[in-house]
Amino acid sequence: QWSSVPKGPPDAILGISEAFKRDKNPRKVNLGVGAYRDDSGKPVILPSVQKAKSIILETPDHEYLPIDGLNKFTQLATSLAYDNASPLKDHRVASIQSLSGTGALRLGMAFIKRFYPYSGKVYIPNPTWGNHKAIIQHSGLEFIEYTYYDPNTKGLNIEDFLGEIDSAPKNSIFLLHACAHNPTGVDPSQDQWREIQDLMARKQHLAIFDMAYQGFASGDVDKDAFAVRLFANEENPMIVMQSFAKNFGLYGERIGNLSVVCNSSQEVDRVSSQLKILARPMYSNPPIYGSRIVSTILGNPELKNQWLVDVKTMADRIINMRSSLVKLLESKGSLHDWSHIVKQIGMFAYTGLLPENCNELMDKHHIYLTMDGRISMAGLNSKNVEYVAEAIETVTRF
Ligand code: PMP
Repeated sequence: QWSSVPKGPPDAILGISEAFKRDKNPRKVNLGVGAYRDDSGKPVILPSVQKAKSIILETPDHEYLPIDGLNKFTQLATSLAYDNASPLKDHRVASIQSLSGTGALRLGMAFIKRFYPYSGKVYIPNPTWGNHKAIIQHSGLEFIEYTYYDPNTKGLNIEDFLGEIDSAPKNSIFLLHACAHNPTGVDPSQDQWREIQDLMARKQHLAIFDMAYQGFASGDVDKDAFAVRLFANEENPMIVMQSFAKNFGLYGERIGNLSVVCNSSQEVDRVSSQLKILARPMYSNPPIYGSRIVSTILGNPELKNQWLVDVKTMADRIINMRSSLVKLLESKGSLHDWSHIVKQIGMFAYTGLLPENCNELMDKHHIYLTMDGRISMAGLNSKNVEYVAEAIETVTRF
């Protein structure tokens, strides 16, 4: 019956984890997958999450959530992103709990496909998180890449980015990374965000914010929400897809939030009803545990303060690893300029390593990374960073 089914290719990122698991060398290092590890290379349960879990134990039922999730969670999650931006103050934001960031993106794209009255082509940055293209296509939409990264400066190509926003037809859809752009780690400055927003508003483009790293990027949840709050206060048409995988360390709990800014509370009612109609045949209702954890933390000032410390601890460790890696590369005698690694932000560094360097790192040094030269900074720690620096210096020697 299924004899005509061809074997598909392995997932580019998860395939690397498989290869890492098979490697028996004790020095092996996994810099592929974007999941936080502490300085001993172990996954972490945040202290705030641990406390919330002990509180939740007291209400151990396993009832279904409503289709749109736990109301307390969606409210708290939405205000974490928007703070007191005007659409939220005016009760003009429709929100629905989602299956982490991926689920928020998938549901948001389904909503756009069904209801956006203009062209359903989604502009995405080049490069972007690998799953964006598949999510867009899976939702029956098309994508077009816009210029974002400049390989020469290893920074943002703001001129071409603005040029392409300007030349796109009015009411186009632009996917933006709210902070900690994946894979490049290159974000616009606050002034550049203002320019982007101003032009987007003039063109009446719809902004879709993928917000997977709030707090995780700079260690400051408000700073990382700058772009989202700017667009919201300027009444830019926008949709936000939040993930709580990284900033709460709740990867496998699949907890996220999709929010659509509307023009009136009546519009919120209509949009919310349609988001539920879209979610119901896909998965009926979202999982309960993650929403309980996040809402317990965000709804309790003491736990929230603890969480702000927890998320900053993770961000700071990564920021320290960036400077350690660069210092070690220099002390090993590397003649390349690695300063971009310190300038980049978030989970990843976009090293500029070529595919042949990546292959050599994997084959000879047991260091695993994606072929675009992206490394997960969270995979580095005080015990392996020197080994990694030495290997990178060796494979990139002139
Ligand atoms: N967007 C970006 C840019 C990401 O890096 C990720 C996680 N790798 C996601 C969305 C979604 O992740 P999740 O579905 O685990 O929340």
